[in-house]
Amino acid sequence: MTDTQWDTYRYRVHSAAMVTPVIRELWLEPIGEPLPFRPGQYILFADDRYAVPQRSYSVANAPRADGRLSVLVTLVPGGRTSTWAHGISVYDEVSVEGPFGTFTTPDGATSPVLLLGAGSGLAPVRALAEALLDPSRPEGAAGRRVTLFFSGRTARDAIDRLRFEEWRRSIQRFDYRLTCTRDAREERHRRIPALLPDEFETLRGVEVFAAGPPGFVTACQAAAEALGAATVDIRTEEFFTDPAPWYDTVPPIEHGARAPMQEGSP
Ligand SMILES: Cc1cc2nc3c(=O)[nH]c(=O)nc-3n(C[C@H](O)[C@H](O)[C@H](O)COP(=O)(O)OP(=O)(O)OC[C@H]3O[C@@H](n4cnc5c(N)ncnc54)[C@H](O)[C@@H]3O)c2cc1C
Repeated sequence: MTDTQWDTYRYRVHSAAMVTPVIRELWLEPIGEPLPFRPGQYILFADDRYAVPQRSYSVANAPRADGRLSVLVTLVPGGRTSTWAHGISVYDEVSVEGPFGTFTTPDGATSPVLLLGAGSGLAPVRALAEALLDPSRPEGAAGRRVTLFFSGRTARDAIDRLRFEEWRRSIQRFDYRLTCTRDAREERHRRIPALLPDEFETLRGVEVFAAGPPGFVTACQAAAEALGAATVDIRTEEFFTDPAPWYDTVPPIEHGARAPMQEGSP
């Protein structure tokens, strides 16, 4: 499968739940042939009549035998497709196109993996974590060490916290680190790019994945490079329409400059 081969698939909403105050998780089940994809890839998602614009959403799970897909959709104020996705109901039929993207890891790689996500940027890194930690999958066969670092504003943003903490207890090669940027009661409450030098002596030889709002991803990439990660080993997935509050608070990017991180953002 290459990035340029894709198709349209019909799915229906199997279940839907708010997993943070602004993120809705939709589980979609295939009506017929399921979408083939690699963990970390994304789809184009819209209603079955294309009344809303198709938008990109990362698949939030590794491939499953039942073909179901999860998406984590941040509600963007005034956003057409995210507002639609927050309003659809169980059994509604939807259109899925894909798979797209290169936010994936090569089979057979053995290096440790660092997964960095903020907000709904958890989606592709959760898919990668599921695959990397499952020895029966090609991505998991090498038994690579996996660290998932997630950033939210408060504990209410920490999607799947209990699940990841349970994995940390039961899977020796997995670590989960959470930072809550607006909650000083949590063990960590600074942004991930600022925390990385405290948490890792070096990232030389580590494969790094960063997903979420563009300002977050850019800052993670710079921090990982500063710690010795090779540019070719850093994969990024920028959710290029910034969900609020990033959209409102990040100033315009000047030509050739990196977007500065905002105080209080994840
Ligand atoms: C590879 C990839 C993966 C992604 N994965 C996810 C994911 O897993 N989860 C997720 O939540 N999002 C994800 N996104 C973002 C997603 O694709 C959408 O961009 C997002 O949901 C907003 O779409 P929308 O139709 O709701 O908003 P839009 O209708 O596009 O509007 C977004 C915001 O921009 C404003 N706006 C729109 N057009 C203009 C304009 N011309 N001028 C000024 N302001 C404007 C709107 O008022 C609104 O505030 C991903 C993006 C990419 C590229």
